[in-house]
Amino acid sequence: MQSLRELRQVSSAENEFAQMRFVVLSGPSGSGKTTIVPLLIQTCPVRLIKSVSATTRAPRPHEVPGEDYHFLSREEFARRRAAGQFLECAEVHSSGNWYGTLKSEVTRARDVGGCALLEIDVQGARQVIEQCPQALTIFVRTPEGEYERRLRARGTESEKVIQSRLETARRELAQAPAYRYQVVNDDLGRAVAEMSQLIQQWERECDD
Ligand code: ADP
Ligand code: 5GP
Repeated sequence: MQSLRELRQVSSAENEFAQMRFVVLSGPSGSGKTTIVPLLIQTCPVRLIKSVSATTRAPRPHEVPGEDYHFLSREEFARRRAAGQFLECAEVHSSGNWYGTLKSEVTRARDVGGCALLEIDVQGARQVIEQCPQALTIFVRTPEGEYERRLRARGTESEKVIQSRLETARRELAQAPAYRYQVVNDDLGRAVAEMSQLIQQWERECDD
């Protein structure tokens, strides 16, 4: 694997974000990303600042605009996309809704001396891996078979939907080797501690 210094040199000319430090958590739906984010922010000695994603989906009752998401109309999302304001964006889960990370979220974190923490789907993470190979990308996965157990235990989906979700999870799992690290979210506290260690180690490598 190339060193962080080499990666920075390769990509810095064409991409202003190539030298910026940020952390990406991704992985299949249900792997625990949303649960992990606040715990990591609370416990990691590196100052992590949650990136507030933009989305075209409607707010849920408890959600606060600007804190949970930047809620945009489809037109506004498309306009910003055409203007090159997104670091990454994707139509997630074939829901018809778009989600994306505004570049301004990453610079906002940097400007206050922190490091943006992105929680995004695997399509978005693939774009980041291609454009910003120095970013710390972590693939969060459940222990073998756990996803299927949780899905079946919930008992809310038909067998057809279960099979379709499992197929999506298999496709997403196949992308795991492209990430810098993979962390198994077995015991929550252990997984968060492992990620915190990885982030601290990466910060030291970036400083070298
Ligand atoms: P994601 O954001 O990746 O879709 P969530 O954070 O919503 O996943 O987690 C999915 C479910 O799994 C939630 O009910 C959450 O409480 C549970 N969960 C998360 N981490 C663990 C863990 N280590 N052990 C058991 N259950 C977990
Ligand atoms: P929800 O609608 O349940 O909040 O999120 C649905 C999915 O969108 C999750 O899998 C989440 O990881 C993904 N997501 C949230 N924000 C972003 C983003 O900025 N970019 C991408 N690519 N996916 C996102």
